[in-house]
Amino acid sequence: MIPVVALVGRPNVGKSTLFNRLTRTRDALVADFPGLTRDRKYGRAELEENEFIVIDTGGIDGSEEGVETKMAEQSLLAIEEADVVLFLVDGRAGLTAADEAIAKHLRSRQKPTFLVVNKIDGIDADSACADFWKLGVDEMHQIAAAQNRGVTALMERALAPFVEAWKASHSEDDEFIDIESLDSVEAIEKANLTEEDAEAAYKRLQEQPIKLAIIGRPNVGKSTLTNRILGEERVVVYDMPGTTRDSIYIPMERDGQDYVLIDTAGVRRRKNMNEAVEKFSVIQTLKAVEDANVVLLVIDARENISDQDLSLLGFALNAGRSLVIAVNKWDGLDNEVKERVKSELDRRLGFVDFARIHFISALHGTGVGHLYESVQEAYQSATKRISTSLLTRIMQMAQDDHQPPMIRGRRVKLKYAHAGGYNPPIVVIHGNQVNDLPGSYKRYLMNYYRKTLEMMGTPIRIQFQNSD
Ligand code: GDP
Ligand code: GDP
Repeated sequence: MIPVVALVGRPNVGKSTLFNRLTRTRDALVADFPGLTRDRKYGRAELEENEFIVIDTGGIDGSEEGVETKMAEQSLLAIEEADVVLFLVDGRAGLTAADEAIAKHLRSRQKPTFLVVNKIDGIDADSACADFWKLGVDEMHQIAAAQNRGVTALMERALAPFVEAWKASHSEDDEFIDIESLDSVEAIEKANLTEEDAEAAYKRLQEQPIKLAIIGRPNVGKSTLTNRILGEERVVVYDMPGTTRDSIYIPMERDGQDYVLIDTAGVRRRKNMNEAVEKFSVIQTLKAVEDANVVLLVIDARENISDQDLSLLGFALNAGRSLVIAVNKWDGLDNEVKERVKSELDRRLGFVDFARIHFISALHGTGVGHLYESVQEAYQSATKRISTSLLTRIMQMAQDDHQPPMIRGRRVKLKYAHAGGYNPPIVVIHGNQVNDLPGSYKRYLMNYYRKTLEMMGTPIRIQFQNSD
């Protein structure tokens, strides 16, 4: 499971600076959902190509009275849900009462916590840090987030247990290969099998359950849809293991296809249907996205498309997930409203033209049955095996239709292409000066691949390798 790192500290210590440093140019998801008291930022980050989630809790203001009880509820939740807490303090400002109040709170939680003294650039770090030992922490790290000093070392240490696990999972690839154990297209590609074995492994993979996450902001109808799916006559739901703090995974089968439904709505955690809906958890949603093969984003037809819908969508796209969109509560709308909703979807979601959009009523069940087709299609597209020769041929066609530009007086030349990964499909293109290609040409290539390969439901990524 993907680790979650929470950045905690009073205002102005450098949390956003560190957050931006870790997540770089990736879009942050700013949580401003109804019911969440203060803004928090969520982002994806990488350590040696392994993903983790970072949360800038933002909300803790140590100057509040009795911070240990009044700590903003959402920040508290972020700490509960995090695997690791980075507690930031300001090396220039020195120890403050607010730091002490936060430290006291953190001590009462059982979380791996690292004290991070920031802004140590241009000061005598060791003497500036001496005071902070009073906070009673086990480990102190000195960084200058603004200068990217000490950040990688900090993350390597903070994520050490996960790094171990990542290493272990990588090294398994080198050992004797059992086809049964190849549970991803990446694993199959890496295994360098004979053509025949590869076919068998792919066939097996396509028969694997599709992990489907139903996500959306509060009240769009996720629970209603989840219950509708699980209650459907044609769906066979298997027994599930006990509850955890994360989403519940519900194995099910429909029309011969196995699925694992990732229940972010907490439907199955409630003892009965009428029990109050659990607090919406952004982290749980993000983890579900990371772990899913296909994301089903639910949007409410009776509300305008909000920034939150787009943030969730953006997160799913960044994660490279296959996507199906369900516009829910389509029942009882008059035609004028339906037209308005459709044109708004065109306008705001035009950029995800690869995703199928379904108009459904989770309440009445209308249209729900058709979702499965799109989910399967998205999964098949994302895991489809595409040969090097086909990828190269399509690249050549794209190049013939529309030549790449001249750069520094020399025409960019694309030479050959091959698959660099699946789910999402990655196409690696080799050629001269390809790293200098303008974004518009890269997008052109991406769209060309998408159209030619008829890949619905999945984003396609293109990487370039200079070979001059
Ligand atoms: P937040 O409120 O905790 O999110 O803090 P910010 O990230 O907004 O940073 C507060 C201020 O500290 C900004 O003016 C930053 O430029 C500055 N700052 C952040 N990191 C560093 C650092 O490593 N060194 C120095 N000198 N200033 C920093
Ligand atoms: P969640 O927070 O996303 O899990 O949303 P719920 O499933 O709890 O639904 C929120 C509200 O929307 C409830 O009052 C539902 O009855 C209502 N609702 C859900 N789906 C539909 C639908 O298809 N049509 C209509 N009219 N209402 C719906």
